Amino acid sequence: MRYEAPESVEGAVSLLAGGGPRGRVLAGGTDLLVQLRAGAIAPDLVVDIKRIGETREIREQDGSFVIGAAVTGAELGEHAKIKSTWPGVVEAAELIGSTQIQGRASLAGNLCNASPAADTVPALVAAAARCRIAGPKGMRRVAVEDVCTGPGQLSLGDGEFVVAFELPERPARSADAYLRFIPRTEMDIAVVGAGVNLSFDEEGRCTAARVALGAVAPIVILVEEAGAALLGTECGNAALDAMAAAARAACRPIDDKRGTAQYRTKVAGVLATRAARIAADRAREVG
Ligand SMILES: Cc1cc2nc3c(=O)[nH]c(=O)nc-3n(C[C@H](O)[C@H](O)[C@H](O)COP(=O)(O)OP(=O)(O)OC[C@H]3O[C@@H](n4cnc5c(N)ncnc54)[C@H](O)[C@@H]3O)c2cc1C
Repeated sequence: MRYEAPESVEGAVSLLAGGGPRGRVLAGGTDLLVQLRAGAIAPDLVVDIKRIGETREIREQDGSFVIGAAVTGAELGEHAKIKSTWPGVVEAAELIGSTQIQGRASLAGNLCNASPAADTVPALVAAAARCRIAGPKGMRRVAVEDVCTGPGQLSLGDGEFVVAFELPERPARSADAYLRFIPRTEMDIAVVGAGVNLSFDEEGRCTAARVALGAVAPIVILVEEAGAALLGTECGNAALDAMAAAARAACRPIDDKRGTAQYRTKVAGVLATRAARIAADRAREVG
């Protein structure tokens, strides 16, 4: 197995494009190294992206944020501005594993591992985050919800990798939240994850709402009907009940040792409601 650590985006692209189908990107390695050790994968080439400047920085650009693909959960948690602007995205990253794991685990690794239960993905989808993807044909931007196509499956082409995430400009009176349910207090995989991002007008009516669910379908889902149920409302009980019903209706979960499909579906409605209440409270606080 060949290990390379290029210092430019172009260098990584040419290695990945020329390395054949068994090339893999390495960010924090908290998924990749486990899979390597378990013999689940045997890449010919591993391209470590952490020496590429763009993958390691957090930049603010006209009110929006660009977060490098290999920025760790710990680094996100230490960034006061991003934490106050996108608390849901940061709390999702801070739920990953343990302190040690958070010192390595990245947003791009969480997304590109393509687990339906990945914690940061519902939060990023709710935030309407986009990926900057570099490849042999240059740079393209893709909504986070369009990157995974199934468990372990990505829409990335040969030689492509995620360079960074873009979080859009934050309007006034808006905020996000992420909640997950696991069978124990930490170090487990989500039974359900729910990310909600809300905006309100001066009268307190909801003007934008995105609700995303993890671990209830083969990929993280953006439930447009759930967001639509909140629009124009003050996110009171009736609107939240309608939102929860739409969230439950979108669930297509599996049964496994963490919960039955029926249980996951019920929890999805409960978590989406709680996350929406938190996001609404936060939006009112920031004003
Ligand atoms: C003990 C433990 C606890 C964990 N707990 C959680 C948890 O609570 N919640 C959770 O969601 N996950 C959890 N995980 C899984 C893992 O830590 C996360 O998915 C993490 O975010 C992966 O990031 P990474 O940088 O380590 O990715 P890596 O392991 O480096 O990469 C993961 C995958 O993504 C690909 N990849 C990485 N970067 C890119 C890129 N820029 N472009 C294209 N492909 C890329 C790699 O080739 C690989 O297939 C846990 C793992 C461990 C070992």
